[in-house]
Amino acid sequence: MKDLSIYIHIPFCKEKCYYCDFLSFRRGEDYFEDYIKALLNEIDIFANTYKNIYKIKTIFIGGGTPSILPTGYIGKVMDKLFSCFFIEDDAECTIEANPGTLTYDKINHYKQNGINRISLGLQAYQNYILKNIGRIHTKEEFLKNYELIRKVGFNNVNVDIMFSLPNQTLEDFNYTINKIKSLDVEHISVYSLILEENTKFYDMYKKGEFVEVDEKLDRKFYHNAIDNLTNYGYNMYEISNFSKKGKECKHNIVYWERGEYVGFGLGASSLLEEKRIKNTENISEYIKGNNKKEIEELSLEDRQSEFMFLGLRMNKGISKHKFYDIFNQDIKDVYGKQIDRLILDKLIIEDGDNIKLSKKGLDLANTVFVEFI
Ligand code: SF4
Repeated sequence: MKDLSIYIHIPFCKEKCYYCDFLSFRRGEDYFEDYIKALLNEIDIFANTYKNIYKIKTIFIGGGTPSILPTGYIGKVMDKLFSCFFIEDDAECTIEANPGTLTYDKINHYKQNGINRISLGLQAYQNYILKNIGRIHTKEEFLKNYELIRKVGFNNVNVDIMFSLPNQTLEDFNYTINKIKSLDVEHISVYSLILEENTKFYDMYKKGEFVEVDEKLDRKFYHNAIDNLTNYGYNMYEISNFSKKGKECKHNIVYWERGEYVGFGLGASSLLEEKRIKNTENISEYIKGNNKKEIEELSLEDRQSEFMFLGLRMNKGISKHKFYDIFNQDIKDVYGKQIDRLILDKLIIEDGDNIKLSKKGLDLANTVFVEFI
């Protein structure tokens, strides 16, 4: 049996954060029941064809805010997955949660139903910043939820934090990092605020009410995070991700290493048999069972390009041998010019069998990725 990862999309949030352009709707309680029914149906249909071909390595329930669903729904989804697929004993099963939507019962319910990792969105440990970016919770609620998660017995927790937020100072950011360190979380994801269209911040920007942090300060935030977390012993294994030993997010590594995954739910994406597949983003259609999938067959060039720009996100970089094993071509025959130029510009380095981003390349990662697209 081949390895497969599963992504489940829950497209509901209590409120929309001001920076967020993810596919999610405010509230949506009226849709919960029908949405989960459609989701279970989609899983069944897929499993009918593929259950004997794949074994499940990781499950990731993301959104949106999966923890907005009342107790019981996640159990139904996990039951369906366990009944349809062979799920490995050590499969990593993550749920994303927003502080302010969790209760002891919900957390306990996740544990009883096979979830073994929780990813909590904190973003900042200052209430005034949380308010400025439209988060629905306070730092106190985060802390309370975090303690409940530990009390229930979860030993694999991620916390998301952000920098370059409006009015956020370096002191604020370092305080947030230090607070997370003191909680001894296993995994930390650190993201820079990106101004996206179709967000409240973008509307404010158009009206001149939002000013982006300048690049120099943005990089300073980033370097601070890297120094602070790596000096403390966290391993930076990807551009934005830090973990304790053995607690890297297995699910995300599947994305970066181009492993196969199937996405269930509204707008969910899959990479299967070298096709990129995307579900409809129309919730009424989805609920009717009409997934209307967009299917893109990946050419050899597409696959090689993805191998490069996804693999280079990881600190270990990409393996030249692996490239040859997969594509039966020498990496230098395909990307020799780009690699030589990026080495000359000190953006990437060759380290034995690996090619990876340099320190300078980490700051200019997009410039590097573009070379392979
Ligand atoms: S909770 Fe997450 S998915 Fe929902 S609006 Fe905020 S950032 Fe977006």
